[in-house]
Amino acid sequence: MTTRLADIRSKVESGERLSFDDGITLETEADLFFLGDLANLVRERRHGRRAYYNINEHLNPTNVCVYRCTFCAFRADLKSPRGYVMTDEEIVARAAEADRLGATEIHVVGGLHHQLPFEWYLNVVRIIHEAYPRLHLKAYTAVEWDWFQRLTGRPTKDLLAEFKAAGLGSLPGGGAEIFHPEVRDIICEHKADTEAWFRIHREAHELGLRSNATMLYGHIEKPEHRIDHLLQLRGLQDQTGGFQTFIPLAFHPENTKLSHLPKAGGVMDLKMVSIARLMLDNFAHIKAYWVMLGVKTAQLALSFGADDIDGTVVHEKIYHDAGSDSPQQLAVEDLKRLIAEAGRDPVERDTLYREVWRDGLTWEVERTTTAV
Ligand code: SF4
Repeated sequence: MTTRLADIRSKVESGERLSFDDGITLETEADLFFLGDLANLVRERRHGRRAYYNINEHLNPTNVCVYRCTFCAFRADLKSPRGYVMTDEEIVARAAEADRLGATEIHVVGGLHHQLPFEWYLNVVRIIHEAYPRLHLKAYTAVEWDWFQRLTGRPTKDLLAEFKAAGLGSLPGGGAEIFHPEVRDIICEHKADTEAWFRIHREAHELGLRSNATMLYGHIEKPEHRIDHLLQLRGLQDQTGGFQTFIPLAFHPENTKLSHLPKAGGVMDLKMVSIARLMLDNFAHIKAYWVMLGVKTAQLALSFGADDIDGTVVHEKIYHDAGSDSPQQLAVEDLKRLIAEAGRDPVERDTLYREVWRDGLTWEVERTTTAV
C-alpha cells in the first residue's frame, strides 16, 4: 500500500474528511479491494447489517422531449411513432396498480414535451395524490423544474411550493449527470446547468422537501470530474442536510448518440459505489440501483459501501430503452433474498427512510423511527 493510501485509510478510520486530492488518489491508485474494504467500514459504521429496499413503481408520463442529451435513449421527437403522452386515466391506473401492489412510493420522471403546458405536469401530481394520498410522490428532476420555470416565467421556489401543496413529497436526483462544464457542455449543453440544479435542490430543501442526488459515470468524464461532482454535492449537503441518498448511475450506451463507447464494467461500478461512500461523508445513504447496475452487481455493492438496493420498480423505461438487461421488476421476496444472500438484514423503508411495518399489503410507517 502506498503512503498516500495508508494516509487515506487512517483518515477514514478516524472519521476525518477526505480531500479532492484524496479522491483522485482513490480513483487512480486504489484497487477494488482496498476501496471496498474501506467503504464497507464506513457503511457498517452507519448502518450495521441493515440494507434497505422499498416497494415502489415508476411512472414516465411522457417520453417526448425538447432536449437531445447525447446519453439518452428514452426521449422521442414530437412526431416520432415512439413518442407517447399518458392520459389522466392511464396515470391514475398506474397509481391504482401501485397501491394494489402495496407500494409506498411512485417515482415520476419524464421528457419535457414541446407542447404540454405547465399545468399538465402539476395535474399528474394532483390526480395521483387525490386518488391515493398515501403514495409518496417523488417527482420531477431539477431539469424538469428548470423547464417549468421556462414555461411559466415563475421562480422555481414558487413552483415547488405549489406542487408541494398539490401532493409532491420529494425530488429524485436525476439530471445531475456530470456537473463539470468540460463534460456537461458536451453531453447535455442545453438543459438545466449546474447552478440551476443546485439552486433547485437548495430551494426544495428550504421548503422541507428532501431530495436525492445522482452522477452519470462511464462516458467521457475523467476521474477529476467525478470527484469534483461528489465534492459539489457534499458542499450543498453541509449547508442544507436535505439530500437523502446518492445514486451512482452507470452510463448505458445502447441506442444513444454515444453508442460507440463501451459500457462500464463491474469493477468500475463497484469502485464508483465505494468512492462515493468514502467521499460523501455527510450522505446517510448510498444506493445500488439494481436497474442500472444489474441485479448481481447491485447485490455485491452491498459489501462495497451501498446500504440500499432501491425497490420493486415495475415499468422502468429509461434504462431499458438504453439496453439495460436487468428485469423490469423484482418481487419483494427476490429483493429480500438478494439482500440476505449478501449477508445483510433486509429492511423495508419508505421514501424518507422510515422503516415500514407491513402485514401483507397493509403497511404503516414507524412514526417514531427517524430517518437515518
Ligand atoms: S435525459 Fe431527460 S432531458 Fe435529456 S433528452 Fe432524455 S428525457 Fe430529455
